Amino acid sequence: MALPSFVTSDITRIAAAVVFSTLLFVSDQISTVDTNEAQLYPLALICLYRLRRRYVLQIVCGLCVFYTIAGYVLDPPADIWDGVTNRTFSIIVLLGAMVCLSKLSEYERALLMQSMTDPLTGLLNRRSFMDLSGKEETRARRHGNPFSVLMLDIDHFKKINDTFGHPVGDLAIKALADICSNALRPHDLLARYGGEEFVLTLPHTPTEGARVVAERIREAVEKVEVPSDKGVVRFTVSIGVSTYASGEAFDHIVERADKALYVSKQGGRNRVTVDGPAPLAAPA
Ligand code: GH3
Ligand code: MG
Ligand code: MG
Repeated sequence: MALPSFVTSDITRIAAAVVFSTLLFVSDQISTVDTNEAQLYPLALICLYRLRRRYVLQIVCGLCVFYTIAGYVLDPPADIWDGVTNRTFSIIVLLGAMVCLSKLSEYERALLMQSMTDPLTGLLNRRSFMDLSGKEETRARRHGNPFSVLMLDIDHFKKINDTFGHPVGDLAIKALADICSNALRPHDLLARYGGEEFVLTLPHTPTEGARVVAERIREAVEKVEVPSDKGVVRFTVSIGVSTYASGEAFDHIVERADKALYVSKQGGRNRVTVDGPAPLAAPA
């Protein structure tokens, strides 16, 4: 369920922190017991305000609970009932806050995931792919590791949409996403770059390794069958590969992979074109 944006706004956090601290303060005042929770009010304020720092929040809330219990044990109240109600109330408030805030931060994490991924395939979207791959380029520049980029585009995809319908086209996109995901190693990056276009960054992979991966994907796509009301859909994919050349910007590596993909399309589709570290000549 989507929470309205005001629930997670800073103003709401500050207001929640003020209400929370006031509750603790009142609970202390109405009790006859001398407690040490007063020391916790600034902490409560900080932890509520720093909601985004989930672990800090949980640790601080945990400490609040610990000190509340320790205070009860080390400084037992004269009147047991007052002591119990006061401290139980504090503990309930603290635990409640802990649960609510960790739920909110889960929600924020979900929002972050949504902003980074493509809803149809669950893969990275173009923006997060470019961010993460830019970091790979920085690493490659620092350590001199080769890495490669693959650009993939389904052949004659418009025909699939026109013949079998858009939902079947979506199934073909998902099938390609699955094939690419299965070809990944743990540090590879895969994204849906656009409609039926995908992109992969393969760290620590020189040209020949990337060609092998690309061929494996191409062959797997040839074999895949997407079921539909109008019969089984088969399709092929064209792939362009480029390999990092020393000092090259990531945008440029993607551009070269895209040009190589164009060469594959021009060459008849269902093929892999490799542009190694030396730039590919423009197609005639
Ligand atoms: P080519 O072999 O040259 O790549 O030909 P093509 O028909 O595949 O041409 P192109 O790559 O330009 O086709 C892109 C089509 O993808 C156009 C658009 O209608 C369709 N498309 C884009 N996004 C989606 C989507 O999310 N689902 C479906 N089903 N179709 C989409
Ligand atoms: Mg396309
Ligand atoms: Mg296409």
